[in-house]
Amino acid sequence: MKAVMRAIPVSRPELDGREEAAVSRVLRSGWITMGPETELFEAEFAAFTGAKHACAVSSGTTALHLALEATGVKTGDEVITVSHSFIATAAAIRYVGATPVFVDIDAATYNMNPALVEPALTRRTRAILCVHQMGMPCGLEALLGIARQHGLPLIEDAACAAGSEILWQGQWERIGRPRGDIACFSFHPRKVLTCGDGGMICTNDAAMERRCRALRHHGMNVGAHARHSSSSVIFESYDEPGYNYRLTDIQAAIGRVQLGKLSEMVERRRRLAGRYGRLLKNPAHEPPWARSNWQSYCMRLDEELDQREEMQRLLEAGVATRRGVMCAHREGAFPAGSWRGGSLAESEKAQDRTIMLPLFASMTEEEQDVVIEALG
Ligand SMILES: *Cc1c(COP(=O)(O)O)cnc(C)c1O
Repeated sequence: MKAVMRAIPVSRPELDGREEAAVSRVLRSGWITMGPETELFEAEFAAFTGAKHACAVSSGTTALHLALEATGVKTGDEVITVSHSFIATAAAIRYVGATPVFVDIDAATYNMNPALVEPALTRRTRAILCVHQMGMPCGLEALLGIARQHGLPLIEDAACAAGSEILWQGQWERIGRPRGDIACFSFHPRKVLTCGDGGMICTNDAAMERRCRALRHHGMNVGAHARHSSSSVIFESYDEPGYNYRLTDIQAAIGRVQLGKLSEMVERRRRLAGRYGRLLKNPAHEPPWARSNWQSYCMRLDEELDQREEMQRLLEAGVATRRGVMCAHREGAFPAGSWRGGSLAESEKAQDRTIMLPLFASMTEEEQDVVIEALG
């Protein structure tokens, strides 16, 4: 029988006995869905990012949905965003009945080009939803300036950006404080910090936090754990229809262990990304005011190479890759008429002319050398 060689994967979650022990602890505690572990995870995540409030939810997508609701986006509104993102960014805008308005990206950073935002504004624009794509901080300073000038909320899709940093008024600060009004994280296994599935909403606005807390739990005005631990009888009320977007305490316990390991995981990813940067012909670009967590390492292909052929050739050499980040406007889910936007030439080029290379915290230099050698 021919042995099947396992390719070096694009990513791999970092889980060990510590997460296993945390899960057992929760299972034995008798409280397994959203409760005390979730409250601790929220407090620890808020402390990590510097946000006043953190509200845990079931995914990055549900975090985006609640962030849009909390900032008041409604049917008929427009939200400025990028097409060049995982489809959940644009889909969340549709959840609230709004229309995504796609602006093109900057070719060097794969992030929203701030110069294209003002020309895209209309009377119906209700928010700006920017993305820290692949963990690389986007041009927040310019975007926040535009948002404030036009009285628009700025929502950060920080799904990939746990542990990323931005130079803010002369200081390195973590993404998520937030710089805008609200920042949304994902804990899917393809991200740097994972708890299976999960998400977090960070904000400094107490009213937005309250709204997100109610909406994630069926619109209930009191949490189940608060009611359970109260010494007096509490009758709950439901002020508006909400959702079941709860994180479980099993997931929160994993998330807490992961958060404790995050700085070290990011450090190892940065070391590997730095090595790619020195050894590759077409290294990724990191602006001087940004420090990525390198959730993904994206590389442009030489003109003469076909993307699919190159990825197949690498796979046969034992190296798994992925094509560049998708473009929502090219998918059947977003037919003409369901979105607006100008030229998305750089977004399309980034999808078609880049590949993502293997990068994960436990990757060895030997594995990385296999990748670099296979690229030739
Ligand atoms: C992963 C991702 C999401 C969705 O997060 P889930 O936790 O999978 O729902 C949203 N936006 C971006 C940019 C992402 O990478």
